[in-house]
Amino acid sequence: MKLDSYWTDSAPAFAAQAHELPAQVDVAIVGGGFTGLSAALALAKRGASVAVLEAGERVAAEASGRNGGHVNNGLAVDYADVAAKVGVDKARAWYRAYDDAVDTVARLVRDEAIDCDFMRHGKLKLATRPHQMAALERSAGRLVGDGVDTDVEILDAAQVRNEVQSERFHGGLLYKRSGQMHMGRFAKGLAEAAERNGAQIHTGTSVQRIERLGRGQTHRLHTGRGIVTAQQVLLATGATRHGSYGSFGWLRRRIVPIGSFIVVTEPLGAERAQALLAARRTYTTVANIHHYFRLTADHRLVFGGRARFSVSSPQADAASGEILRTGLEETFPQLRGVRLDYCWGGLVDVTQDRLPHAGERDGLFYSTGYSGHGTQMSVLMGERMAAVMAGDASANPWRGREWRAIPGHLGPPWFLPAVGLYFRLKDRLA
Ligand SMILES: Cc1cc2nc3c(=O)[nH]c(=O)nc-3n(C[C@H](O)[C@H](O)[C@H](O)COP(=O)(O)OP(=O)(O)OC[C@H]3O[C@@H](n4cnc5c(N)ncnc54)[C@H](O)[C@@H]3O)c2cc1C
Repeated sequence: MKLDSYWTDSAPAFAAQAHELPAQVDVAIVGGGFTGLSAALALAKRGASVAVLEAGERVAAEASGRNGGHVNNGLAVDYADVAAKVGVDKARAWYRAYDDAVDTVARLVRDEAIDCDFMRHGKLKLATRPHQMAALERSAGRLVGDGVDTDVEILDAAQVRNEVQSERFHGGLLYKRSGQMHMGRFAKGLAEAAERNGAQIHTGTSVQRIERLGRGQTHRLHTGRGIVTAQQVLLATGATRHGSYGSFGWLRRRIVPIGSFIVVTEPLGAERAQALLAARRTYTTVANIHHYFRLTADHRLVFGGRARFSVSSPQADAASGEILRTGLEETFPQLRGVRLDYCWGGLVDVTQDRLPHAGERDGLFYSTGYSGHGTQMSVLMGERMAAVMAGDASANPWRGREWRAIPGHLGPPWFLPAVGLYFRLKDRLA
């Protein structure tokens, strides 16, 4: 079993053109995940000189290359809860931003001819306990009733069993606008498109400190390879921790990096895979500590979940792999003993209200906090932040949201085991 992401291992690596680090650019983007690459493409298309500064040796090797492969629509939290807090109009606009986000991915795949198995077969949210069906029905009713999403449908237990070969589920809620893709191949295509349009991509370039020049947006970025001065800077750093605490401290006090873990089986063969998940959708289960799964084009099962409340490391990933194997075999007993070829973990950039935050602070632009629902939103927000940086603040669907620091969150997330225990208890009592 490889302790590595299937998406990066099974895609050809993007090879950045060799460039000296430029002394000066219009825009420096810190981070070469989907947010950074999408922004680079959009900014370069607008004629800006752009440098993406990525600490890792490979682009999109953190969350963007380590996720579950779902490109789902819908909010990460219940629409009705959000509507109760902020009102129907705002909640509807935020929900629709995810529709736009999936559409944006689809458009880029088409326009930039990215070969990444993108398809829109929908997402099925599965009830693991009978009483959860009432909540799913309520959700569907609100989405249709408020005119938010008419492409949703309740499937009863028999309908679910027709397409999911498991006895575990009592029904589900189908979101028909959701999609999926091969994350490694999408990353390569997106990076190539950005470069084709004139953006420079510098891997192995960790930004350690950012110094503001005057009171405007011009900044000097101190990297491991030298200094870059930029008229504007976009922080697209996700949940990973590079560089000194000082320059990124404000963001870090607002984001909890939570480990999520994934295993991928050996290829199951076309027939067995088809029998397992006939509709080839993305699937999530209803629980605080939930599972998510889907098939790949080469007929493997990708099965993920929170598994343990710890930060990803080779030991944590391997231990989580064993926990996930149990979850996988409980869900699909017919796969007992199946070989697991991959196991990895990654950090999810979770915010307190599990909604994204994007804007400008102290002359620095940022977009982050997608809370496990970011493969599509990061791509949309890269484009939208390019428009914001060109002067159109209204392009940002998340503008004007108050963002308080998480009390007591000053360094490494010491509270994760306690959070894990809390959610596990909550699931047991639900
Ligand atoms: C295990 C897992 C499963 C997930 N599953 C799904 C899913 O199925 N569907 C979904 O929608 N979302 C999912 N997500 C979330 C989604 O992958 C992310 O929200 C999204 O990829 C974030 O993109 P990003 O570009 O903002 O951040 P990232 O992809 O994390 O990119 C940030 C980049 O910034 C770089 N960086 C950080 N600091 C510096 C610095 N100082 N200098 C230079 N570079 C720096 C990092 O090296 C990194 O490459 C999952 C996440 C994880 C971890």
